[in-house]
Amino acid sequence: MIKVGVFGSEGRMGATVCDAVSADAELELVARVDIDDDPKAMVEAGAEVAVDFTTPDSVKANVRFCLDNGIHSVVGTTGLTEDDLSELATWATSTQANVFVAPNFALGAVLMMRFAQQAAAHFSTAEIIERHHERKLDAPSGTALRTAQMMNAARRQPWKTASGGTESLSGSRGGDVDGIHIHSLRVPGSVAHQEVVLGASGETLTIRHDSLDRASFMPGVILAVKKVAGLEGLTVGLENLLDL
Ligand code: NAD
Repeated sequence: MIKVGVFGSEGRMGATVCDAVSADAELELVARVDIDDDPKAMVEAGAEVAVDFTTPDSVKANVRFCLDNGIHSVVGTTGLTEDDLSELATWATSTQANVFVAPNFALGAVLMMRFAQQAAAHFSTAEIIERHHERKLDAPSGTALRTAQMMNAARRQPWKTASGGTESLSGSRGGDVDGIHIHSLRVPGSVAHQEVVLGASGETLTIRHDSLDRASFMPGVILAVKKVAGLEGLTVGLENLLDL
């Protein structure tokens, strides 16, 4: 049995993770830690792996605490920058514990990112439309940013991004990640949705994924909890744990 603690246990994702861990025969839920609790509860309960679904402001301190106490981290919290990830990588290599970070734990989302990366080399433009619930704290979504980065890594030449002419309303063309424009919708009733729209002469390709329920993230989270001890330092992306 792997002993698991959850940071953000009272949140939407954290509570779902607590249920999923409790339901798995190979895992034991030993600590629930939310904002008013002392993180030392993780250590006192003997947690071997801590899952973090908190906020961009809290996650780094939680991971640091876990590394200092020999506890592996599985991080789903989004909003971490490239600099933040570099910092986590440095910390993780100097301790015995590992860190696994995934901006999206849904299998379909990982496949969407992979398909978008495959398509990137063959089209001249690409834009991303992501839609989340109205309480999401960061924009664009970590999934959208990572999708754009993966697609840009597959390009041999710059995108032929349409300028869109004069922007009479600031922000109308979205955020720009090296030629891929990202548009973030925040809509009550949504969970996590994304469309990647690629364009070329006379054709478009749309790759779309919808997480309709937080249950969609649980197989990925549980897989990461079981595998994180066997990884090394920092690993980013669920695709690294799947045989795609
Ligand atoms: P939420 O607001 O419902 O829950 C966050 C919880 O964290 C709250 O209960 C809050 O009190 C708690 N918290 C804040 N600081 C804390 C701290 N220092 N220690 C312990 N608990 C603390 O948010 P949510 O919808 O559950 O989302 C949480 C995070 O997960 C967000 O960053 C979101 O973008 C991300 N997310 C990731 C995925 C994925 O697949 N990676 C999927 C969905 C959501």
